[in-house]
Amino acid sequence: MCDHCLKHGTAGKWYLNARNYSYEIVEEYNLREFLMEQYKNFEQIAVRKIAGFNGVGLGYKIQMPIIGRIVKRIAEQMLHSTKPPTNPFKAEGHIGQVVPLDDAIAILEHCAMEPIIQKYCMCRYMHRGEKDACCINFGVMSEIIEKLPRFIPVDEKFQLTREEAIERFKEHNEKGYIGTIWYGPYPYINNLCSCANPECAGIRPRLDFGINSIYKAEYVVDIKSDLCTGCKSCIAKCQFDAINFDHIRNQSVIDKSKCFGCGVCLHACKYDAIGIHPRKDFPELKGIY
Ligand code: SF4
Ligand code: SF4
Ligand code: SF4
Repeated sequence: MCDHCLKHGTAGKWYLNARNYSYEIVEEYNLREFLMEQYKNFEQIAVRKIAGFNGVGLGYKIQMPIIGRIVKRIAEQMLHSTKPPTNPFKAEGHIGQVVPLDDAIAILEHCAMEPIIQKYCMCRYMHRGEKDACCINFGVMSEIIEKLPRFIPVDEKFQLTREEAIERFKEHNEKGYIGTIWYGPYPYINNLCSCANPECAGIRPRLDFGINSIYKAEYVVDIKSDLCTGCKSCIAKCQFDAINFDHIRNQSVIDKSKCFGCGVCLHACKYDAIGIHPRKDFPELKGIY
């Protein structure tokens, strides 16, 4: 369990706390207008300056000895903020965690408020110009997106039943997209995403720049050596470079220190050789999120 779950979770996971998806939280934190303003201007958030810095040329800035540390600290303080948000142009309190398929289904079955919608992924749109309807929103967030046509899928359904949302998430997960759940802003949970690196604005800062922008999942996988045939199908699925091939044993092996527990490699294995386990069961991974 990560520190955040210890402080904010029920059932050991912050994202299974149904209250954080509720209309009650939206009213308590006065989030309707805030979210409308934020999503109306979504594309500007990455380029607006915060404390004199923005995300343009982030790789270069992060490498600078003093400036790099300042940028990293400002970014992490902003993303992990648990104070009521004040500025819709800042990604305040916007922290997420990787979730495997079963936890995503639990979110959609038990926590997500209706209406449930699918919208275009803005990370892919901004980085690749691709329109891919793979973000699932709930409750008030869905009502806000309904007023912003550029997010609404043209050739696909917009509003989804709970069952349709589960089916859509499964399709994305089987394709290899990483399931992620997000505060937006804390403590309101409204986005279940299906992400890919490097375009995901949540995953890339962590992998490329060492900014703690997303937590690893509550899980980690391992490979049963008696079942692995060495077919290598799982290796290409892993976006975290956590699967290596052992040429002596002719088998794949997981580097648990790199595994984010997304579980997408399970879909690639026809031999049932990959198992997914709670991260807390591995003492060497204690506190590593
Ligand atoms: S977090 Fe993931 S799915 Fe959501 S907008 Fe970004 S890349 Fe797309
Ligand atoms: S897909 Fe399964 S059988 Fe093939 S290398 Fe990976 S773990 Fe082994
Ligand atoms: S090895 Fe870990 S990080 Fe890589 S795909 Fe499998 S679960 Fe995800």
